[in-house]
Amino acid sequence: METSRPVGERPRRPEWMKVRAPSANTKYNDVKKLLHGQRLNTICEEAHCPNIADCWGRGTATFQILGETCTRACRYCYVNSGAPSEPVDPLEPLRVAQAAHQLGLSHVVVTSVDRDDVADRGAGHYAATIRALKAKLPDATVEVLTPDFLGVEEEALHTLLAERPEVFNHNIETVRRLHRKMRGGKASYDGALALLARAKELADYPVLTKSGIIVGLGETNDEVVDTLRDLRGHGVDVVTIGQYLQPSAKHAEIDRWVHPDEFAWFREQGEALGFGTVFSGPLVRSSFRADEQRHAAATGRGAISY
Ligand code: SF4
Repeated sequence: METSRPVGERPRRPEWMKVRAPSANTKYNDVKKLLHGQRLNTICEEAHCPNIADCWGRGTATFQILGETCTRACRYCYVNSGAPSEPVDPLEPLRVAQAAHQLGLSHVVVTSVDRDDVADRGAGHYAATIRALKAKLPDATVEVLTPDFLGVEEEALHTLLAERPEVFNHNIETVRRLHRKMRGGKASYDGALALLARAKELADYPVLTKSGIIVGLGETNDEVVDTLRDLRGHGVDVVTIGQYLQPSAKHAEIDRWVHPDEFAWFREQGEALGFGTVFSGPLVRSSFRADEQRHAAATGRGAISY
């Protein structure tokens, strides 16, 4: 932690966190036009992801299903929170599949807001989306980055895994000590671990499990390694570690800018713990170059730093 910084003053963004702004790149504009035209949400836009110029410029994006409004209010998250005003759109899975097809994706990542207001927490909608993707893009692999399906975890996992997504991703987000403070009373650290372990147990095919940690929220490096150990102890294959960016003044403050050398150290620790792939770097996000992450894990390429 920076001790010389006056109280209330935010740490200045270091060089290694600077990203290029979205430009007039044709591919970027094509992706934007297609997604907006299909009335689809992406976590890239909803979370103001710093990698949007890179990802959209390469013709990839991460779909956000189940609407724009999340029923949780995590202290680090940019996504709009509150009571969703619209029901789940039954045609959204088809539009996602159509857009993924038009983008020519070989690996499709789908995430969502939390929908505690829906009886199955959105699991059926996830299943419908995977089904639509597999029908439209039979050669593509599908990754789901899911909420915790609070209270209906077992049924939700059955519903979702019946459609055989290749990657099941659920982010633990932060270390045990900070989990409740950052995520509120509903989500739990042990619940996230249990969901990941149970997904692996229930799948009757070799599903890859994955989770992510954001750093710079007040954790210590040793606590990050403890979390890596917990994830590995619950069978997680792929892990991502990236720098927290404070979305607004009302969100949790950035505690520190984690140096690229520390990210490299996390990667070494993860490798030593036996993860198939460790993606660790300041700008790494759960879905950042997810196709490469999956490929690296599947081919035993191992750890990658960005
Ligand atoms: S890292 Fe993920 S959320 Fe961010 S722009 Fe890329 S695909 Fe979208």
